[in-house]
Amino acid sequence: MKILVPVKRVVDANVKVRVKADGSAVELANVKMAMNPFDEIAVEEAIRLKEAGKAEEIIVVSIGPQQAQETLRTALAMGADRAILVKTDEQTEPLGVAKVLKGVVDAEQPGLVILGKQAIDDDSNQTGQMLAALLGWAQGTFASKIVLEGDKAKVTREVDGGLQTVELRMPAIVTADLRLNQPRYASLPNIMKAKKKQLDEKTPADYGADVKPRLKVIKTEEPGGRKAGVKVKSVAELVDKLKNEAGVL
Ligand code: AMP
Repeated sequence: MKILVPVKRVVDANVKVRVKADGSAVELANVKMAMNPFDEIAVEEAIRLKEAGKAEEIIVVSIGPQQAQETLRTALAMGADRAILVKTDEQTEPLGVAKVLKGVVDAEQPGLVILGKQAIDDDSNQTGQMLAALLGWAQGTFASKIVLEGDKAKVTREVDGGLQTVELRMPAIVTADLRLNQPRYASLPNIMKAKKKQLDEKTPADYGADVKPRLKVIKTEEPGGRKAGVKVKSVAELVDKLKNEAGVL
């Protein structure tokens, strides 16, 4: 079985993002970029499934600019077998990405697609669900555990108030949540090897997909600063403030 893992190049999670002066978007010039953290978890899970003998090949795919090849090479250095760069300079959106991924799935015929549950730049949390709909496949979102048994995938999902386990008929879509695993670091020799690997280069048109933006961002703002806290002298004063000032009681 092949596992397909879509990986997105986003601003590194450790960078403090700044909004452009004109409020049009987040500043990306000279900012460190990295693989979306949930996608690292998805790659790690695919590698663990392969190590457990449940998969033969891991294909990673990224839809984005030429520089997204660095993200693909990180995945190759972690242990993915093959990488596809679907090149576009458009700002990618979940529906366009899902349409490209459907084309990749049709061409590669994976038994499982593991995506991140969300990209930390647009926070959409939509691509996996849209891909499942386009393919007519079962989906297990927010996975904290995946067990493959024959043609079934048992996925434990993090839902409000607890854990839910669902059984999916494969081929299926799974989206990775934070507690699925702890991704490995790529070793230096593997990073060097990944640099030399050939990537498959494609375009959205090769998959018959249109990735032109359908949304327009009207405004981007920094989050408002937090108000300073106050110290109260007694429980009675605290209750009074919660009741009469904060209005939460
Ligand atoms: P989103 O729906 O944008 O929050 O993204 C959810 C997941 O879809 C990500 O964690 C990735 O696995 C995948 N994804 C989104 N955009 C891309 C992209 N441009 N290239 C590859 N994978 C993507």
